[in-house]
Amino acid sequence: MTKRILIKGAAGRMGTNLIKTVASNPDTTLAYAVVHPEAPQLGQSVPEFAEVKYISDLSQATDFDVAIDFTSPESTLETLAHCQKLGKPLVIGTTGLNAEQKEKIQQASTSIPVVFAANFSVGMNLMFKLVEKAARVMGTYSDIEIIEAHHHNKVDAPSGTALALGEHICKALGRDLDEVAVKERNGLIGPRTKDEIGFSTIRAADVIGEHTVWFADIGERIELSHKVSDRITFARGAVHAALWLSQGPEAKLYDMTNVLGLDKL
Ligand code: NAD
Repeated sequence: MTKRILIKGAAGRMGTNLIKTVASNPDTTLAYAVVHPEAPQLGQSVPEFAEVKYISDLSQATDFDVAIDFTSPESTLETLAHCQKLGKPLVIGTTGLNAEQKEKIQQASTSIPVVFAANFSVGMNLMFKLVEKAARVMGTYSDIEIIEAHHHNKVDAPSGTALALGEHICKALGRDLDEVAVKERNGLIGPRTKDEIGFSTIRAADVIGEHTVWFADIGERIELSHKVSDRITFARGAVHAALWLSQGPEAKLYDMTNVLGLDKL
């Protein structure tokens, strides 16, 4: 049966790609397109779904199978509370959440299934596994650096994906990312410490998302890179996650490695 999807942030860069993806997938249809109260689209029909109008009052949106939210941390927590109240599953793509906000997602996932992922592309989820493997072989003796580039409108840095790469590397090495992450270097900072993981951020024009991880030893280095050239990649991953949730997995916090079956790699 066709699954009815609620999209929050429907007028955003990801939201418009999500609507296109839902429209082109025979297993999904758009139940609600929720936008910011000041969005110019409010009250208009969604181009791909003439019968659906953009709304801003989430409490009106009750008849759906799965919600997908790519907005802001505060807005995502509002969607989380709404889904929890209705007992509906939720896909979260928003990045830049702090530890307290992430804890709220963790708590809610004891009563509803949630897929929360820093990156919904297949390639990046494979790369999470590849950096774990590289870290197990070269991580203890090499210098690890993570370089990311995004468009000039991105508000959070380093990107959620760069931090997730750092988390996967730390998991493989038994390090705590909060202790070893170096997110700024400026002035007389002294030599690099052995265990640190450096983050470099580029913000430029229309770059959608590029990440490279260096494992650098004296005389050789491995570089693992991933580049996204179209947001539709993330949208397809998020809709795939929504369909996976609609099959009724137990209430739990999942990520894309669970959805794609890569968790055993
Ligand atoms: P965007 O600014 O183009 O879109 C966000 C939209 O959310 C905007 O239209 C904004 O008006 C809307 N919004 C904000 N508060 C709202 C509210 N209370 N109710 C309804 N709508 C609200 O940004 P974007 O590029 O689409 O990215 C959105 C988020 O998704 C960011 O956190 C970004 O980092 C993240 N993102 C994640 C992935 C991933 O794979 N996980 C991929 C791309 C982007």
